[in-house]
Amino acid sequence: MNPKTERRIALISVHGDPAIEIGKEEAGGQNVYVRNVGEALAQLGWQVDMYTRRVSPAQEEIVQHLPNCRTIRFSAGRLEFIPRDKLFGVLPEFIEKFLKFQQENSLSYDLVHTNYWLSSWVGMELKKAINCKQVHTYHSLGAVKYATIDNIPAIATKRLEVERQVLETAERIVATSPQEKAHMRQLVSTKGNIDIIPCGTDIRRFGSVDRETARDALGIDADAKLVLYVGRFDPRKGIETLVRALSRSKFYGDERLKLIIGGGSVPGRSDGIERDRIENIVNELGLRECTTFAGRLSQDILPTYYAAADVCVVPSHYEPFGLVAIEAMASGTPVVASDVGGLQFTVVPGETGLLAPPQDVPAFTTAIDRILINPEWRAKLGEAAKIRVQKKFSWDGVANQLSELYTQLIQASVVSKESVPALLSK
Ligand code: UDP
Repeated sequence: MNPKTERRIALISVHGDPAIEIGKEEAGGQNVYVRNVGEALAQLGWQVDMYTRRVSPAQEEIVQHLPNCRTIRFSAGRLEFIPRDKLFGVLPEFIEKFLKFQQENSLSYDLVHTNYWLSSWVGMELKKAINCKQVHTYHSLGAVKYATIDNIPAIATKRLEVERQVLETAERIVATSPQEKAHMRQLVSTKGNIDIIPCGTDIRRFGSVDRETARDALGIDADAKLVLYVGRFDPRKGIETLVRALSRSKFYGDERLKLIIGGGSVPGRSDGIERDRIENIVNELGLRECTTFAGRLSQDILPTYYAAADVCVVPSHYEPFGLVAIEAMASGTPVVASDVGGLQFTVVPGETGLLAPPQDVPAFTTAIDRILINPEWRAKLGEAAKIRVQKKFSWDGVANQLSELYTQLIQASVVSKESVPALLSK
């Protein structure tokens, strides 16, 4: 191994900036994943450079998180937010900037870990230019997404082609759940190497607040029946299913019932439009009185919200992993989630929460009510949920597995580079 490049790693996340506020349009699980994986790898001794796209002149070009972990932002295309479906055209410029920065700063990477299909293309191009290995995490699969939406974007054909290409050529694909791996095999390609390494959560942060303190802090009555949603405003997150389910609940009209919907939005943008739509439905269903739109919740305040809740609902139409579920579970709160994707991996029905078919309003009502009706069972589910996350889904554990994978792939490349001259001299 080149001593200069030893244990230096590039995490590439073109559209998911690891240094920005989470919970706004297009800023969600991927940003959290890259940031936390980056910092945890840095704690293990890696030099971590996280590359993303700069979206405004106000943003710093380099953000130092730890002495050996930083975010580096490149301008590519117009210096403004561009929705991800319109970003493919700016990638060649992003690659140019990456190579220039690497040269100017005498950096070299044996391995790049790319995130989402846009960055996977960047990684595949970089492999041609700098002879590095590639690890890739999808975060979302086009083949799954396009099966659940009506308006297929123009970029779909390209995305599906790139997603197949990276599966077949990357040194390793990281699936975050067995369900995601199965989808890759069924819908993308039977070729390529896949490891399962889950997403994680900060088990010191989530789980740090007890229920009583949390309710006091938020001004929630001890006998309230508190249902919580946390996440982006996107029709595929299924918030409509949740509010419709509550309008059929046994507790509908009971003043103890409270719904908190946490998540940021920008008026006029896609998430602002979805928030308006949900607010209209809430009003129509007569849930206005019991519902609070809490806006974007910072990672500092979120543990208090999760701990205060009786149940956290994740009603997504699809979810490759679903960080919110494990954050709630780590906080000792049971989860009612859609019976899809990574949620089938994290939530154990009857042990840490309940699963319901996606968009099935009566099934969500039944599951939520079962938990709200029975506080003893709720507490038992919450305790088991917390233990499950501590055992299986901590960032430290995830980073250890990734670190082992990188080391193994880098060493394999050293062995194969060294064995060429040895073979030639025979
Ligand atoms: N999030 C947040 N504040 C909010 C809403 C969401 O910090 O107001 C975070 C949430 O804690 C989680 C992430 O955004 O870490 C959402 O990740 P998830 O995998 O659940 O969904 P995605 O956004 O990737 O679809």
